[in-house]
Amino acid sequence: MRTVVCMKCGQVWNVSRYAKIGSGTYLCPNCRKNKRKDEIGMAVKQAKTIAEYAIRKWLEEEKFVLECFQVEFQGHEAVVTDGNGDKLRLIYDPNTRMVVCADL
Ligand SMILES: [Zn+2]
Repeated sequence: MRTVVCMKCGQVWNVSRYAKIGSGTYLCPNCRKNKRKDEIGMAVKQAKTIAEYAIRKWLEEEKFVLECFQVEFQGHEAVVTDGNGDKLRLIYDPNTRMVVCADL
């Protein structure tokens, strides 16, 4: 056993000496659980499917202001419409877990 300091709560934890942990990157089980809860909480707020969640996340990362767009989800796809009526088609690929932008 060896000890590591959790980067979030600062508590010292015993871990297996074989665990691969970079210095300053360890998250203890408690903080990991909370983090996951936060993430799930965020997703549950609006997304009903993983595809929906991934697409919303993609839009956020691309700095879309979601309130300004109409987003229609259909299976693994979403059609995003802006105030001008311009549309963008997004497809979630479950194999790569990537969202790609497709032409309509
Ligand atoms: Zn912690």
